[in-house]
Amino acid sequence: MVQELTDYKCPACGKPMIKRVGRFGPFFGCSGYPECKTIQAADRKTGEPLPPKPPPKPTGLTCPKCGKKELVVRSGKRGEFLSCLGYPRCRMTLPADKLPEFLDLKTKNQWPPPDIMAKAKAGKKAAGADAASAGAEPTAAASGKSAKILPQGAAGARAKPRARPVKPL
Ligand SMILES: [Zn+2]
Ligand SMILES: [Zn+2]
Repeated sequence: MVQELTDYKCPACGKPMIKRVGRFGPFFGCSGYPECKTIQAADRKTGEPLPPKPPPKPTGLTCPKCGKKELVVRSGKRGEFLSCLGYPRCRMTLPADKLPEFLDLKTKNQWPPPDIMAKAKAGKKAAGADAASAGAEPTAAASGKSAKILPQGAAGARAKPRARPVKPL
């Protein structure tokens, strides 16, 4: 194990952090260990300690999709976004910049707005609609076949003249 005292201060106790390389790559551990067990992940590119992940911030808004859990602000690679606390069971996400608008709607008792409700439910219904249209395809194919049956009916008419020569025999 490689150990290296750094200038980084422990966010918990202020003692210098030690850079270590473990099984899962480099990380920073507090030099105050074992009294202080603070560990920070290191950025694989820069080697600098990554800021601890901020816990999701509650919004007080009920998820429009599941209607049970709360929407929370999470920060991802593309910035902040709203997601359901029920993730990954409920994968509802909304843009975080709309939060003030959403909170305003909530104070007016207009949360969730119909358009967002429609979107949340469309996510579920989209799969059902696909299945319905897939079910409609064979019907369309069948109607295509029924159109081809008409010439066959004409062939059936031809069958009668064929039967006539049989009679004289
Ligand atoms: Zn510490
Ligand atoms: Zn949800």
